[in-house]
Amino acid sequence: MREEAPRVLEAGFPPVPLVNHGLRAVTAVTVRARRRRHNQSMAAFDSAPLLVIWEVTQACDLACVHCRASAEPRRHPEELTTEEGFRLLSEVRAFGEPLMIFTGGDPLKRPDIFELLSESVRLGLRTTITPSATPLLTREAVASIQRAGVSRMALSLDGADEISHDGFRGVHGSFHRTLASLAEARRLGLETQVNTTVTRRNLTQLEQMARLVGEHEARLWSVFFLVVTGRALEADDLRAEEYESVFARLHAISLHAPFDIKTTEAQHYRRYLARSGQPSANPRQASAIRRQIGINDGKGLVFVSHTGDICPSGFLPLAAGNVRRDSLAEVYRTAPLFLALRDDSRLGGKCGACEYRKLCGGSRARAYAATGDYLAEDPQCVYEPARARTPA
Ligand code: SF4
Repeated sequence: MREEAPRVLEAGFPPVPLVNHGLRAVTAVTVRARRRRHNQSMAAFDSAPLLVIWEVTQACDLACVHCRASAEPRRHPEELTTEEGFRLLSEVRAFGEPLMIFTGGDPLKRPDIFELLSESVRLGLRTTITPSATPLLTREAVASIQRAGVSRMALSLDGADEISHDGFRGVHGSFHRTLASLAEARRLGLETQVNTTVTRRNLTQLEQMARLVGEHEARLWSVFFLVVTGRALEADDLRAEEYESVFARLHAISLHAPFDIKTTEAQHYRRYLARSGQPSANPRQASAIRRQIGINDGKGLVFVSHTGDICPSGFLPLAAGNVRRDSLAEVYRTAPLFLALRDDSRLGGKCGACEYRKLCGGSRARAYAATGDYLAEDPQCVYEPARARTPA
């Protein structure tokens, strides 16, 4: 890793070569335009999120070893009702046009799921769903998702073969069902995304999984890093140095991949890219990374639990309100928890001293899981900020 401090154009704006976006020349005009777009999106995070994630149920027939939601087969009796779901979707639409993500548990455990999806689409929200690969995910279910007007279906792939994936998911047959559902979606023209949680169990299989993502023509590979919460085990997490080597491998894959790559709960991948200074041969990748700048738990992202709790993310289980009694917009905009998470001057430890804190900010969920303080430094980052390296 190079040791020099990054070039910062002016306070508040990240170093220009976030990656060298494949641009031949960066003119003053493009720099100004980029800075304006960046500042606009950062300011916009104060009034509206880019992503709203609704955990429509915690019920799921899988038993994944890392499950954030500690899902179980039966639905919770206090799940939001269909009518409450409709009200929530209207509130989301009032934010503007955030991406609306239906997740779980397994959303297909709700009998009203297609009604809810259709309403989301009718309201004009770009809508995605993350079903579990269980017998509920039939060809007809994939077709119903497509007919509802959903923009993208995301499926989990946590191993490059049947033994590793099914071992992870706790149910035999999940690997083949995942690949068959991706193929069926492709046949129907429904866009797909693959979600992978990187752990010690599948660390050696990254490139093979990437090959499967490409072969199935998914548009996005969303690579999750562990937050030790729910059923996730600390022993499955990687060391901070291993995060860096995964970043290097993801970057190498991204140079030629026909799909975008994003990381979840590894915000420091953006710092890795900013510092790598390696030209990106893939402008689409650069654009995917640009869209993620600054997004973090509670900052451009809000999560609504199955019982309506309003949280900064699914991995940061702190509720600042509940949609049954509070306005989603008001909680997102004014709750002290959300305000604190969007104020990078309040970050502690290395993250507080880091010149990449606006771009990255570290995983607030991991900081909370490790220390109980959501503003503490991300313990899985090897970077030593320039300010921390400078003797007083
Ligand atoms: S120290 Fe914190 S803000 Fe800086 S790169 Fe690491 S995780 Fe990101």
